[in-house]
Amino acid sequence: MSATANIVSHGPLLKCKCPGCKENQEFHLTEKTTQSSLLKKMMLFGDREEWNLVCQSCDYHHKVPKPEGSAVLHALMPLKEENTPENLQKFETTMNQMSFLAELFNDSMSWICAKCNETVAHNFQACWNCSAPHPGYEGGDEPPRFIPPMGG
Ligand SMILES: [Zn+2]
Ligand SMILES: [Zn+2]
Repeated sequence: MSATANIVSHGPLLKCKCPGCKENQEFHLTEKTTQSSLLKKMMLFGDREEWNLVCQSCDYHHKVPKPEGSAVLHALMPLKEENTPENLQKFETTMNQMSFLAELFNDSMSWICAKCNETVAHNFQACWNCSAPHPGYEGGDEPPRFIPPMGG
């Protein structure tokens, strides 16, 4: 009744195995801004932002911490102006320090137990529910790859 949500896509950011559809997919960075009502603003609640990496195939959302979302945009800026290998290198260095990237990668490596259908975290060698062994990776577990921004 008092908040309007606005979703902005910042375009494709990386390619990674999707924890949702388990395929290598393009992920777009999106920013959702919810404008608070006047009353909330007066009570010093600012506008709320929410950042996500969204799978372009199955709509899987991976939440990105707000400071990291803005840091990515900041890191993209010089690259958009001038698409040099040097700027790309700098961008990738910054990106590799982001916690959401490791989280997304870890999530994508989780596996489903063939015996009981439980989803098990990537670092477990046996199902934590029924102790069935890890079936072995089926391939496709490539590390995330960044998509250089267009233009520049
Ligand atoms: Zn997906
Ligand atoms: Zn199991």
